[in-house]
Amino acid sequence: KELMITEGKVEFKNVNFYYEPSRPILNDISFTVSPGKTVALVGHTGSGKSTIIRLLFRFYDVDSGDILIDEQDISKVTQNSLRSKIGVVPQDTVLFNQDIQYNIQYGRFNASPADIEASAAAADIHDRILKFPSQYDTVVGERGLKLSGGEKQRVAIARTLLKAPAIVLLDEATSALDTKTERNIQTSLDRVCEGRTTIVIAHRLSTVVHADQILVLHEGHIVERGTHDEL
Ligand code: ATP
Ligand code: MG
Repeated sequence: KELMITEGKVEFKNVNFYYEPSRPILNDISFTVSPGKTVALVGHTGSGKSTIIRLLFRFYDVDSGDILIDEQDISKVTQNSLRSKIGVVPQDTVLFNQDIQYNIQYGRFNASPADIEASAAAADIHDRILKFPSQYDTVVGERGLKLSGGEKQRVAIARTLLKAPAIVLLDEATSALDTKTERNIQTSLDRVCEGRTTIVIAHRLSTVVHADQILVLHEGHIVERGTHDEL
């Protein structure tokens, strides 16, 4: 069965998960993200934040409980339909050893050159691409080595903007970018989230302040939830 996204509501219901049976990682996780709203996940390293995103993208299946998108159990829809309808901007983007155009188009190969360039411009990477002698035909190299970390993330942002999914998952970079670069990336990330259901693993205070709901994870439990003002 294909996943059909109508509004973009995401629900975790009493989700339990472990990688190894002797060690539970997520314990009774329940939350709802209303269509178009932003939930920020915060918590110490190892608390289970990235695992929540991995489960939503179905890299693993839950051990008990349910994950629903618009009332559909994600374990009962095809992985392709799920992944094609959710956008992900990871902490460390790994690109395909193909040209930049391919990397931006990935998942939407029928996109026109004009749409690709518009997405790259919105992700603030278009001008940088034009400086390469082969421009959009530049092959990025093994693991994207011709591009810096920030540039690779912008390619992932451009790809997500082009895909225009109803649901986006962001893992904010912890790496120290200079503040001007960071502000620019933030503007691009804001464009990715605008009007979409967003789950963001937040490392920046401004992300937390703007979230509709914050979930504080501790050792796989949600220990606090609320807005920035409430917590
Ligand atoms: P960080 O802030 O460092 O990214 P996180 O909150 O995202 O941390 P997770 O990546 O969700 O943490 O990991 C939660 C726990 O699960 C950690 O204790 C980690 O060691 C464990 N874990 C993660 N991936 C695996 C795996 N593939 N196999 C076994 N254990 C894993
Ligand atoms: Mg993580």
